[in-house]
Amino acid sequence: MSEQKKLTTASGSPYYYNEDTQSVGSRGPLLLQDYILHEKMAGFNRERIPERVVHAKGSGAFGTFTLTNDISKYTRAKLFNGVGRKTRVMLRFSTVGGEKGSADSERDPRGFTVKFYTEDGNWDLVGNNTPIFFIKDPKKFGDFIHTQKRDPQTNLKSPTMMWDYWSLNPESLHQVMFLFTNRGTPYGYRHMNGYGSHTFSFINDQHERSWVKFHFKTAQGIKNLTAAEADQMRATDMDYAQRDLFENIEQGNFPRWNLKVQIMTEAEAKNHRYNPFDLTKVWSHKDFPLIDVGVLELNENARNYFAEIEQAAFAPAHVVDGISYSPDKMLQGRLLSYPDAQRYRLGSNYEQIPVNRCPYAVNNYQRDGAMRVDGNGGSQPNYFPNSFDNIVADESYQQPAWESDSAVTGWFNRNAEGENDHFSQPGIFYREVLNAEEKAHLVQNLVGGLSGVNGPKKEDILNRQLCHFFRADVGLGIAVAKGLGIDVETAMPKIHPDTKA
Ligand code: NDP
Repeated sequence: MSEQKKLTTASGSPYYYNEDTQSVGSRGPLLLQDYILHEKMAGFNRERIPERVVHAKGSGAFGTFTLTNDISKYTRAKLFNGVGRKTRVMLRFSTVGGEKGSADSERDPRGFTVKFYTEDGNWDLVGNNTPIFFIKDPKKFGDFIHTQKRDPQTNLKSPTMMWDYWSLNPESLHQVMFLFTNRGTPYGYRHMNGYGSHTFSFINDQHERSWVKFHFKTAQGIKNLTAAEADQMRATDMDYAQRDLFENIEQGNFPRWNLKVQIMTEAEAKNHRYNPFDLTKVWSHKDFPLIDVGVLELNENARNYFAEIEQAAFAPAHVVDGISYSPDKMLQGRLLSYPDAQRYRLGSNYEQIPVNRCPYAVNNYQRDGAMRVDGNGGSQPNYFPNSFDNIVADESYQQPAWESDSAVTGWFNRNAEGENDHFSQPGIFYREVLNAEEKAHLVQNLVGGLSGVNGPKKEDILNRQLCHFFRADVGLGIAVAKGLGIDVETAMPKIHPDTKA
Protein backbone atom coordinates (compact mmCIF):
# COMPACT_ATOMS: atom_id res chain seq x y z
CA MET A 1 0.00 0.00 0.00
CA SER A 2 1.29 3.49 -0.83
CA GLU A 3 2.40 5.82 1.93
CA GLN A 4 -0.51 7.50 3.74
CA LYS A 5 -0.99 11.22 3.13
CA LYS A 6 -2.62 13.70 5.48
CA LEU A 7 -5.91 15.28 4.45
CA THR A 8 -5.39 19.07 4.58
CA THR A 9 -7.10 22.39 3.91
CA ALA A 10 -6.06 24.24 0.76
CA SER A 11 -3.59 26.17 2.91
CA GLY A 12 -2.02 22.89 4.06
CA SER A 13 -3.36 22.60 7.57
CA PRO A 14 -4.17 18.96 8.47
CA TYR A 15 -7.81 18.03 9.10
CA TYR A 16 -8.45 15.94 12.13
CA TYR A 17 -12.12 15.26 11.32
CA ASN A 18 -14.08 15.31 8.04
CA GLU A 19 -17.42 13.67 8.75
CA ASP A 20 -19.55 16.19 10.65
CA THR A 21 -19.64 19.96 11.14
CA GLN A 22 -18.88 21.47 14.53
CA SER A 23 -22.15 22.32 16.29
CA VAL A 24 -23.60 23.45 19.63
CA GLY A 25 -24.60 20.12 21.04
CA SER A 26 -25.44 17.18 18.82
CA ARG A 27 -28.80 18.68 17.72
CA GLY A 28 -27.86 22.38 17.80
CA PRO A 29 -26.83 24.99 15.19
CA LEU A 30 -23.46 24.98 13.44
CA LEU A 31 -20.42 26.99 14.53
CA LEU A 32 -19.14 29.71 12.22
CA GLN A 33 -15.62 28.81 13.25
CA ASP A 34 -15.69 25.48 11.35
CA TYR A 35 -13.58 26.89 8.54
CA ILE A 36 -13.31 23.57 6.78
CA LEU A 37 -17.07 23.65 6.12
CA HIS A 38 -16.70 27.13 4.56
CA GLU A 39 -13.77 26.06 2.42
CA LYS A 40 -15.59 23.00 1.15
CA MET A 41 -18.82 24.84 0.38
CA ALA A 42 -17.12 27.86 -1.15
CA GLY A 43 -14.90 25.69 -3.34
CA PHE A 44 -17.90 23.71 -4.52
CA ASN A 45 -19.87 26.86 -5.35
CA ARG A 46 -17.04 28.00 -7.59
CA GLU A 47 -16.34 24.77 -9.47
CA ARG A 48 -17.97 25.87 -12.73
CA ILE A 49 -16.24 28.30 -15.02
CA PRO A 50 -18.10 29.95 -17.91
CA GLU A 51 -19.08 27.37 -20.46
CA ARG A 52 -17.73 28.05 -23.93
CA VAL A 53 -20.53 29.80 -25.86
CA VAL A 54 -19.75 27.49 -28.77
CA HIS A 55 -17.91 24.15 -28.69
CA ALA A 56 -18.93 23.62 -25.06
CA LYS A 57 -19.11 19.81 -25.18
CA GLY A 58 -15.68 18.42 -25.93
CA SER A 59 -13.15 15.65 -25.57
CA GLY A 60 -9.42 15.67 -26.06
CA ALA A 61 -6.11 13.89 -25.79
CA PHE A 62 -2.38 14.36 -26.25
CA GLY A 63 -0.10 12.86 -28.84
CA THR A 64 2.60 13.34 -31.41
CA PHE A 65 2.86 14.84 -34.85
CA THR A 66 5.58 13.20 -36.97
CA LEU A 67 6.80 14.86 -40.14
CA THR A 68 6.99 12.37 -43.02
CA ASN A 69 7.56 14.80 -45.89
CA ASP A 70 9.79 17.84 -45.66
CA ILE A 71 7.90 20.89 -46.93
CA SER A 72 10.59 23.46 -46.18
CA LYS A 73 10.35 24.81 -49.71
CA TYR A 74 7.00 26.30 -48.62
CA THR A 75 7.53 27.03 -44.95
CA ARG A 76 10.36 27.65 -42.54
CA ALA A 77 8.14 26.48 -39.63
CA LYS A 78 10.48 24.17 -37.73
CA LEU A 79 7.86 21.47 -37.19
CA PHE A 80 7.64 21.07 -40.97
CA ASN A 81 11.40 20.85 -41.51
CA GLY A 82 13.37 17.60 -41.25
CA VAL A 83 11.64 14.29 -41.94
CA GLY A 84 11.11 12.33 -38.72
CA ARG A 85 10.81 15.43 -36.54
CA LYS A 86 8.26 14.91 -33.78
CA THR A 87 6.15 17.61 -32.14
CA ARG A 88 3.96 17.13 -29.08
CA VAL A 89 0.31 17.96 -29.71
CA MET A 90 -2.97 18.29 -27.87
CA LEU A 91 -6.21 17.82 -29.82
CA ARG A 92 -9.66 18.85 -28.66
CA PHE A 93 -12.82 17.68 -30.43
CA SER A 94 -16.24 19.11 -29.80
CA THR A 95 -19.75 19.64 -31.00
CA VAL A 96 -20.65 23.28 -31.67
CA GLY A 97 -24.14 24.30 -30.66
CA GLY A 98 -24.95 22.08 -27.69
CA GLU A 99 -24.34 22.81 -24.05
CA LYS A 100 -21.66 21.07 -22.02
CA GLY A 101 -24.05 18.25 -21.12
CA SER A 102 -25.52 17.77 -24.59
CA ALA A 103 -25.38 14.57 -26.62
CA ASP A 104 -22.35 13.67 -28.72
CA SER A 105 -24.55 12.46 -31.57
CA GLU A 106 -26.25 15.78 -32.42
CA ARG A 107 -26.25 16.87 -36.05
CA ASP A 108 -23.63 19.56 -35.85
CA PRO A 109 -20.17 20.33 -37.19
CA ARG A 110 -17.41 18.98 -34.95
CA GLY A 111 -14.54 21.10 -33.71
CA PHE A 112 -11.12 19.67 -34.59
CA THR A 113 -8.51 21.79 -32.86
CA VAL A 114 -4.83 21.06 -32.54
CA LYS A 115 -2.25 22.71 -30.34
CA PHE A 116 1.30 22.02 -31.55
CA TYR A 117 3.89 22.70 -28.84
CA THR A 118 6.74 23.90 -31.07
CA GLU A 119 10.04 25.42 -30.06
CA ASP A 120 8.96 28.69 -31.70
CA GLY A 121 5.82 28.82 -29.59
CA ASN A 122 2.44 27.11 -29.52
CA TRP A 123 0.63 26.88 -32.84
CA ASP A 124 -3.15 26.43 -32.63
CA LEU A 125 -4.91 25.15 -35.73
CA VAL A 126 -8.50 25.77 -34.71
CA GLY A 127 -10.62 23.95 -37.26
CA ASN A 128 -13.65 21.76 -37.81
CA ASN A 129 -14.51 18.45 -39.43
CA THR A 130 -15.66 20.35 -42.51
CA PRO A 131 -13.46 22.38 -44.88
CA ILE A 132 -16.01 25.21 -45.08
CA PHE A 133 -18.37 27.20 -42.87
CA PHE A 134 -21.89 28.66 -42.90
CA ILE A 135 -20.84 32.30 -43.13
CA LYS A 136 -17.93 34.30 -44.44
CA ASP A 137 -18.11 37.53 -42.44
CA PRO A 138 -17.49 37.47 -38.67
CA LYS A 139 -20.10 40.16 -38.01
CA LYS A 140 -22.72 37.50 -38.68
CA PHE A 141 -21.38 34.92 -36.24
CA GLY A 142 -23.33 35.89 -33.11
CA ASP A 143 -26.63 36.06 -35.01
CA PHE A 144 -25.95 32.73 -36.65
CA ILE A 145 -25.08 30.99 -33.38
CA HIS A 146 -28.22 32.35 -31.72
CA THR A 147 -30.19 30.34 -34.28
CA GLN A 148 -28.32 27.16 -33.29
CA LYS A 149 -29.03 27.70 -29.60
CA ARG A 150 -32.38 27.97 -27.87
CA ASP A 151 -35.47 30.00 -28.68
CA PRO A 152 -35.59 33.06 -26.37
CA GLN A 153 -39.10 32.23 -25.18
CA THR A 154 -39.57 28.48 -25.33
CA ASN A 155 -35.93 27.69 -24.42
CA LEU A 156 -36.12 24.94 -27.04
CA LYS A 157 -33.96 24.29 -30.09
CA SER A 158 -35.77 25.77 -33.06
CA PRO A 159 -35.58 24.44 -36.63
CA THR A 160 -37.60 27.51 -37.61
CA MET A 161 -34.82 29.86 -36.44
CA MET A 162 -32.15 27.70 -38.10
CA TRP A 163 -33.80 27.44 -41.50
CA ASP A 164 -34.95 31.05 -41.42
CA TYR A 165 -31.32 32.08 -40.99
CA TRP A 166 -29.90 29.64 -43.54
CA SER A 167 -32.53 30.51 -46.11
CA LEU A 168 -31.79 34.24 -45.67
CA ASN A 169 -28.03 33.66 -45.99
CA PRO A 170 -27.49 31.55 -49.10
CA GLU A 171 -23.71 31.47 -48.57
CA SER A 172 -24.52 28.85 -45.91
CA LEU A 173 -25.74 26.32 -48.49
CA HIS A 174 -22.45 24.45 -48.99
CA GLN A 175 -21.98 23.84 -45.28
CA VAL A 176 -25.69 23.06 -44.78
CA MET A 177 -25.37 20.32 -47.40
CA PHE A 178 -22.29 18.84 -45.68
CA LEU A 179 -24.10 19.00 -42.35
CA PHE A 180 -27.14 17.12 -43.61
CA THR A 181 -25.17 14.25 -45.11
CA ASN A 182 -24.37 11.57 -42.58
CA ARG A 183 -21.02 13.32 -41.98
CA GLY A 184 -23.13 15.68 -39.87
CA THR A 185 -23.45 12.81 -37.39
CA PRO A 186 -19.99 11.19 -37.37
CA TYR A 187 -19.41 7.97 -35.46
CA GLY A 188 -17.42 9.56 -32.65
CA TYR A 189 -14.31 11.60 -33.20
CA ARG A 190 -11.89 8.99 -34.50
CA HIS A 191 -13.67 8.39 -37.80
CA MET A 192 -13.87 11.89 -39.19
CA ASN A 193 -11.52 14.22 -41.04
CA GLY A 194 -10.32 17.54 -39.70
CA TYR A 195 -9.68 20.75 -41.63
CA GLY A 196 -7.95 24.03 -40.82
CA SER A 197 -10.80 25.38 -43.00
CA HIS A 198 -9.39 28.90 -43.41
CA THR A 199 -6.72 29.83 -45.87
CA PHE A 200 -3.46 30.51 -44.02
CA SER A 201 -0.04 31.52 -45.30
CA PHE A 202 3.26 29.69 -45.35
CA ILE A 203 6.48 31.69 -45.40
CA ASN A 204 9.75 30.04 -46.44
CA ASP A 205 13.34 30.93 -45.66
CA GLN A 206 13.54 32.90 -48.93
CA HIS A 207 10.89 35.17 -47.43
CA GLU A 208 8.30 33.99 -49.97
CA ARG A 209 4.64 33.55 -49.12
CA SER A 210 2.24 30.95 -50.41
CA TRP A 211 -1.35 30.32 -49.34
CA VAL A 212 -2.16 27.04 -47.64
CA LYS A 213 -5.10 24.91 -46.52
CA PHE A 214 -4.70 22.08 -43.99
CA HIS A 215 -6.48 18.70 -44.16
CA PHE A 216 -6.33 15.88 -41.60
CA LYS A 217 -7.57 12.63 -43.13
CA THR A 218 -8.64 9.98 -40.67
CA ALA A 219 -6.62 6.76 -40.85
CA GLN A 220 -9.50 4.94 -39.12
CA GLY A 221 -11.74 5.45 -42.17
CA ILE A 222 -14.86 7.59 -42.34
CA LYS A 223 -17.73 6.17 -40.32
CA ASN A 224 -21.01 7.94 -39.69
CA LEU A 225 -24.34 7.41 -38.01
CA THR A 226 -27.58 7.60 -39.95
CA ALA A 227 -30.14 9.99 -38.50
CA ALA A 228 -31.96 7.05 -36.92
CA GLU A 229 -28.74 5.66 -35.43
CA ALA A 230 -27.84 9.09 -34.08
CA ASP A 231 -31.24 9.36 -32.40
CA GLN A 232 -30.78 5.92 -30.94
CA MET A 233 -27.28 6.77 -29.72
CA ARG A 234 -28.61 9.88 -28.00
CA ALA A 235 -30.99 7.68 -26.06
CA THR A 236 -28.49 4.97 -25.14
CA ASP A 237 -25.15 6.77 -24.69
CA MET A 238 -25.02 10.56 -24.81
CA ASP A 239 -21.26 10.53 -24.28
CA TYR A 240 -20.25 7.82 -26.71
CA ALA A 241 -17.73 9.99 -28.57
CA GLN A 242 -15.90 10.79 -25.33
CA ARG A 243 -16.07 7.12 -24.32
CA ASP A 244 -14.89 5.86 -27.73
CA LEU A 245 -11.91 8.20 -27.79
CA PHE A 246 -10.85 7.65 -24.19
CA GLU A 247 -11.21 3.86 -24.26
CA ASN A 248 -9.39 3.38 -27.53
CA ILE A 249 -6.43 5.42 -26.35
CA GLU A 250 -6.47 3.65 -23.00
CA GLN A 251 -6.35 0.29 -24.81
CA GLY A 252 -3.40 1.37 -26.95
CA ASN A 253 -5.50 1.64 -30.10
CA PHE A 254 -4.10 5.06 -30.96
CA PRO A 255 -6.09 7.04 -33.55
CA ARG A 256 -4.17 8.68 -36.37
CA TRP A 257 -4.75 11.32 -38.99
CA ASN A 258 -2.63 12.03 -42.08
CA LEU A 259 -1.92 15.72 -42.42
CA LYS A 260 -1.95 17.06 -45.96
CA VAL A 261 -1.79 20.57 -47.38
CA GLN A 262 -2.93 22.36 -50.48
CA ILE A 263 -0.70 25.16 -51.71
CA MET A 264 -1.69 28.15 -53.86
CA THR A 265 0.81 30.75 -55.02
CA GLU A 266 0.06 34.45 -54.64
CA ALA A 267 -0.16 34.75 -58.42
CA GLU A 268 -2.62 31.84 -58.62
CA ALA A 269 -4.74 33.44 -55.90
CA LYS A 270 -5.09 36.64 -57.93
CA ASN A 271 -6.50 34.73 -60.89
CA HIS A 272 -8.51 32.02 -59.19
CA ARG A 273 -12.13 31.70 -60.29
CA TYR A 274 -13.33 31.76 -56.67
CA ASN A 275 -12.23 34.05 -53.88
CA PRO A 276 -9.55 31.83 -52.28
CA PHE A 277 -10.16 33.51 -48.92
CA ASP A 278 -13.88 32.74 -48.84
CA LEU A 279 -14.60 30.28 -46.03
CA THR A 280 -17.72 28.96 -47.78
CA LYS A 281 -15.60 27.57 -50.64
CA VAL A 282 -13.05 24.79 -51.01
CA TRP A 283 -10.05 24.67 -53.29
CA SER A 284 -10.63 21.81 -55.69
CA HIS A 285 -8.10 19.02 -55.33
CA LYS A 286 -7.93 18.88 -59.11
CA ASP A 287 -6.49 22.40 -59.17
CA PHE A 288 -4.52 22.16 -55.92
CA PRO A 289 -3.62 18.53 -55.16
CA LEU A 290 -3.11 17.36 -51.61
CA ILE A 291 0.53 17.17 -50.53
CA ASP A 292 1.48 14.70 -47.78
CA VAL A 293 3.02 16.26 -44.70
CA GLY A 294 2.92 13.92 -41.70
CA VAL A 295 1.01 11.81 -39.23
CA LEU A 296 -0.75 12.94 -36.09
CA GLU A 297 -1.27 10.24 -33.48
CA LEU A 298 -3.18 10.55 -30.20
CA ASN A 299 -1.57 8.30 -27.63
CA GLU A 300 -2.08 9.84 -24.21
CA ASN A 301 -5.27 10.54 -22.32
CA ALA A 302 -5.45 13.52 -20.01
CA ARG A 303 -5.05 12.61 -16.36
CA ASN A 304 -7.59 15.21 -15.37
CA TYR A 305 -10.37 16.37 -17.68
CA PHE A 306 -10.92 19.83 -16.19
CA ALA A 307 -7.23 20.70 -15.88
CA GLU A 308 -6.16 19.57 -19.30
CA ILE A 309 -9.20 19.55 -21.59
CA GLU A 310 -11.70 22.04 -20.16
CA GLN A 311 -8.95 24.57 -19.47
CA ALA A 312 -7.31 24.06 -22.85
CA ALA A 313 -7.56 27.35 -24.70
CA PHE A 314 -7.07 27.70 -28.45
CA ALA A 315 -6.78 30.73 -30.66
CA PRO A 316 -6.09 30.93 -34.40
CA ALA A 317 -4.05 34.02 -33.58
CA HIS A 318 -1.42 31.68 -32.09
CA VAL A 319 0.80 30.97 -35.09
CA VAL A 320 4.51 30.28 -35.26
CA ASP A 321 7.30 31.45 -37.52
CA GLY A 322 6.69 30.18 -41.06
CA ILE A 323 2.89 30.08 -40.66
CA SER A 324 0.68 33.14 -40.76
CA TYR A 325 -2.71 34.61 -41.49
CA SER A 326 -4.54 35.49 -44.69
CA PRO A 327 -7.20 38.04 -45.67
CA ASP A 328 -9.92 35.43 -44.98
CA LYS A 329 -12.45 37.68 -43.22
CA MET A 330 -13.65 34.97 -40.85
CA LEU A 331 -10.07 34.25 -39.83
CA GLN A 332 -9.45 37.96 -39.28
CA GLY A 333 -12.47 38.09 -36.96
CA ARG A 334 -11.41 34.98 -35.08
CA LEU A 335 -7.94 36.45 -34.46
CA LEU A 336 -9.71 38.82 -32.06
CA SER A 337 -12.59 36.74 -30.75
CA TYR A 338 -10.76 33.59 -29.65
CA PRO A 339 -8.15 35.09 -27.32
CA ASP A 340 -10.88 37.43 -26.07
CA ALA A 341 -13.14 34.46 -25.27
CA GLN A 342 -10.32 32.71 -23.39
CA ARG A 343 -9.53 35.83 -21.36
CA TYR A 344 -13.18 35.98 -20.34
CA ARG A 345 -13.47 32.24 -19.66
CA LEU A 346 -10.14 31.60 -17.93
CA GLY A 347 -8.67 35.02 -17.15
CA SER A 348 -6.02 37.25 -18.65
CA ASN A 349 -3.23 34.85 -17.74
CA TYR A 350 -4.84 31.81 -19.37
CA GLU A 351 -1.64 31.05 -21.24
CA GLN A 352 0.07 30.18 -17.96
CA ILE A 353 -2.27 27.27 -17.26
CA PRO A 354 -0.07 24.19 -17.76
CA VAL A 355 -1.94 22.79 -20.79
CA ASN A 356 -1.69 26.16 -22.54
CA ARG A 357 1.82 27.09 -21.43
CA CYS A 358 4.51 27.18 -24.08
CA PRO A 359 7.12 24.66 -22.90
CA TYR A 360 9.87 26.83 -24.41
CA ALA A 361 11.00 30.37 -23.64
CA VAL A 362 8.39 33.09 -23.14
CA ASN A 363 9.81 36.60 -22.58
CA ASN A 364 7.76 39.76 -22.62
CA TYR A 365 6.67 42.73 -20.55
CA GLN A 366 3.09 41.75 -19.79
CA ARG A 367 2.67 41.73 -16.02
CA ASP A 368 0.20 41.20 -13.20
CA GLY A 369 -3.47 40.32 -13.65
CA ALA A 370 -5.60 37.71 -11.95
CA MET A 371 -3.92 34.36 -11.28
CA ARG A 372 -0.44 35.41 -12.34
CA VAL A 373 1.46 32.35 -11.23
CA ASP A 374 4.71 32.26 -13.16
CA GLY A 375 6.79 34.61 -11.00
CA ASN A 376 5.59 37.65 -12.97
CA GLY A 377 9.01 38.46 -14.39
CA GLY A 378 10.61 38.63 -10.94
CA SER A 379 12.88 41.62 -10.54
CA GLN A 380 13.38 42.06 -14.29
CA PRO A 381 12.34 45.33 -15.97
CA ASN A 382 8.65 45.53 -16.90
CA TYR A 383 9.03 47.97 -19.80
CA PHE A 384 10.53 47.96 -23.28
CA PRO A 385 12.97 49.22 -24.38
CA ASN A 386 15.18 49.35 -21.31
CA SER A 387 18.88 49.57 -20.50
CA PHE A 388 19.04 46.53 -18.24
CA ASP A 389 17.98 43.26 -19.86
CA ASN A 390 18.96 41.75 -23.17
CA ILE A 391 15.54 40.84 -24.61
CA VAL A 392 15.34 41.88 -28.25
CA ALA A 393 12.80 41.83 -31.08
CA ASP A 394 14.42 39.48 -33.61
CA GLU A 395 14.04 40.85 -37.14
CA SER A 396 14.71 37.47 -38.70
CA TYR A 397 11.10 36.56 -37.84
CA GLN A 398 9.81 39.42 -39.99
CA GLN A 399 7.10 38.39 -42.47
CA PRO A 400 6.83 39.58 -46.06
CA ALA A 401 4.16 42.22 -46.62
CA TRP A 402 1.17 41.16 -48.65
CA GLU A 403 -0.54 43.19 -51.30
CA SER A 404 -4.18 44.03 -50.71
CA ASP A 405 -6.54 43.78 -53.69
CA SER A 406 -7.73 47.35 -53.21
CA ALA A 407 -6.95 50.53 -51.29
CA VAL A 408 -10.62 51.49 -51.00
CA THR A 409 -12.17 51.08 -47.56
CA GLY A 410 -15.84 50.52 -46.83
CA TRP A 411 -18.48 47.88 -46.34
CA PHE A 412 -18.34 45.56 -49.30
CA ASN A 413 -21.34 43.38 -49.95
CA ARG A 414 -20.07 39.91 -49.20
CA ASN A 415 -22.41 38.56 -51.85
CA ALA A 416 -21.85 41.14 -54.58
CA GLU A 417 -21.19 39.98 -58.12
CA GLY A 418 -18.10 37.81 -58.23
CA GLU A 419 -18.69 36.70 -54.63
CA ASN A 420 -22.23 35.41 -54.99
CA ASP A 421 -21.79 31.96 -56.47
CA HIS A 422 -23.08 29.96 -53.52
CA PHE A 423 -24.35 27.16 -55.70
CA SER A 424 -21.65 25.72 -58.02
CA GLN A 425 -19.63 23.92 -55.36
CA PRO A 426 -22.68 22.51 -53.54
CA GLY A 427 -23.91 21.34 -56.97
CA ILE A 428 -20.58 19.61 -57.70
CA PHE A 429 -20.68 18.11 -54.22
CA TYR A 430 -24.15 16.69 -54.79
CA ARG A 431 -23.61 15.44 -58.33
CA GLU A 432 -19.98 14.33 -58.30
CA VAL A 433 -19.01 13.48 -54.73
CA LEU A 434 -22.04 11.81 -53.15
CA ASN A 435 -23.02 8.33 -54.24
CA ALA A 436 -26.68 7.32 -54.66
CA GLU A 437 -27.04 6.15 -51.07
CA GLU A 438 -25.44 9.34 -49.69
CA LYS A 439 -27.73 11.45 -51.87
CA ALA A 440 -30.75 9.58 -50.53
CA HIS A 441 -29.61 10.12 -46.93
CA LEU A 442 -28.96 13.81 -47.60
CA VAL A 443 -32.46 14.31 -48.99
CA GLN A 444 -34.01 12.33 -46.16
CA ASN A 445 -32.06 14.32 -43.53
CA LEU A 446 -32.92 17.65 -45.16
CA VAL A 447 -36.59 16.74 -45.28
CA GLY A 448 -36.40 15.68 -41.63
CA GLY A 449 -34.75 18.97 -40.64
CA LEU A 450 -37.06 21.18 -42.72
CA SER A 451 -40.11 19.39 -41.37
CA GLY A 452 -39.44 21.05 -38.03
CA VAL A 453 -40.06 24.54 -39.46
CA ASN A 454 -43.28 26.01 -38.09
CA GLY A 455 -45.22 29.22 -37.64
CA PRO A 456 -46.52 32.03 -39.81
CA LYS A 457 -43.36 32.28 -41.94
CA LYS A 458 -43.14 28.57 -42.66
CA GLU A 459 -44.03 28.81 -46.33
CA ASP A 460 -41.60 31.67 -47.00
CA ILE A 461 -38.75 29.89 -45.25
CA LEU A 462 -39.29 26.56 -47.01
CA ASN A 463 -39.66 28.14 -50.44
CA ARG A 464 -36.60 30.31 -49.97
CA GLN A 465 -34.48 27.34 -48.89
CA LEU A 466 -35.86 25.14 -51.67
CA CYS A 467 -34.81 27.76 -54.14
CA HIS A 468 -31.20 27.42 -52.92
CA PHE A 469 -31.33 23.65 -53.41
CA PHE A 470 -32.70 24.11 -56.90
CA ARG A 471 -29.90 26.48 -57.75
CA ALA A 472 -27.33 23.93 -56.62
CA ASP A 473 -29.00 21.06 -58.44
CA VAL A 474 -32.47 20.77 -59.92
CA GLY A 475 -32.69 17.08 -58.99
CA LEU A 476 -31.89 17.91 -55.38
CA GLY A 477 -34.52 20.66 -55.32
CA ILE A 478 -37.18 18.36 -56.73
CA ALA A 479 -36.29 15.54 -54.31
CA VAL A 480 -36.47 17.79 -51.23
CA ALA A 481 -39.69 19.45 -52.40
CA LYS A 482 -41.24 16.06 -53.00
CA GLY A 483 -40.17 14.87 -49.56
CA LEU A 484 -41.85 17.92 -48.03
CA GLY A 485 -45.01 17.40 -50.07
CA ILE A 486 -44.56 20.74 -51.85
CA ASP A 487 -45.78 21.16 -55.41
CA VAL A 488 -42.79 22.70 -57.15
CA GLU A 489 -44.66 24.15 -60.10
CA THR A 490 -46.84 26.29 -57.87
CA ALA A 491 -44.39 27.05 -55.07
CA MET A 492 -41.20 28.18 -56.80
CA PRO A 493 -42.43 31.02 -59.00
CA LYS A 494 -43.74 32.77 -55.87
CA ILE A 495 -40.22 33.35 -54.66
CA HIS A 496 -38.11 33.30 -57.81
CA PRO A 497 -40.17 33.61 -60.97
CA ASP A 498 -37.13 32.62 -63.05
CA THR A 499 -36.72 29.24 -61.30
CA LYS A 500 -38.11 26.33 -63.26
CA ALA A 501 -38.14 22.75 -62.05
P1 NDP B 1 -12.49 15.65 -55.25
O1 NDP B 1 -13.32 14.58 -55.86
O2 NDP B 1 -11.03 15.66 -55.50
O3 NDP B 1 -12.71 15.71 -53.69
C1 NDP B 1 -13.93 15.44 -53.12
C2 NDP B 1 -13.73 15.52 -51.61
O4 NDP B 1 -14.94 15.22 -50.96
C3 NDP B 1 -12.70 14.58 -51.07
O5 NDP B 1 -11.89 15.37 -50.22
C4 NDP B 1 -13.46 13.57 -50.24
O6 NDP B 1 -12.52 13.22 -49.30
C5 NDP B 1 -14.68 14.40 -49.82
N1 NDP B 1 -15.90 13.66 -49.60
C6 NDP B 1 -16.29 12.48 -50.09
N2 NDP B 1 -17.51 12.16 -49.64
C7 NDP B 1 -17.91 13.19 -48.87
C8 NDP B 1 -19.08 13.44 -48.12
N3 NDP B 1 -20.07 12.58 -48.10
N4 NDP B 1 -19.13 14.59 -47.42
C9 NDP B 1 -18.13 15.47 -47.44
N5 NDP B 1 -16.99 15.29 -48.14
C10 NDP B 1 -16.90 14.16 -48.83
O7 NDP B 1 -13.16 16.98 -55.74
P2 NDP B 1 -12.86 18.52 -55.49
O8 NDP B 1 -11.69 18.78 -54.62
O9 NDP B 1 -12.85 19.17 -56.82
O10 NDP B 1 -14.15 18.95 -54.69
C11 NDP B 1 -15.45 18.65 -55.22
C12 NDP B 1 -16.45 18.94 -54.13
O11 NDP B 1 -16.14 18.08 -53.03
C13 NDP B 1 -16.34 20.35 -53.57
O12 NDP B 1 -17.16 21.24 -54.26
C14 NDP B 1 -16.75 20.17 -52.15
O13 NDP B 1 -18.15 20.32 -52.05
C15 NDP B 1 -16.39 18.72 -51.83
N6 NDP B 1 -15.19 18.63 -50.96
C16 NDP B 1 -14.01 19.18 -51.37
C17 NDP B 1 -12.96 19.23 -50.52
C18 NDP B 1 -11.73 19.99 -50.89
O14 NDP B 1 -11.00 20.42 -49.98
N7 NDP B 1 -11.46 20.15 -52.19
C19 NDP B 1 -13.01 18.61 -49.19
C20 NDP B 1 -14.25 17.95 -48.89
C21 NDP B 1 -15.28 18.00 -49.76
P3 NDP B 1 -12.69 12.32 -48.01
O15 NDP B 1 -13.65 11.21 -48.36
O16 NDP B 1 -11.35 11.86 -47.62
O17 NDP B 1 -13.26 13.27 -47.00
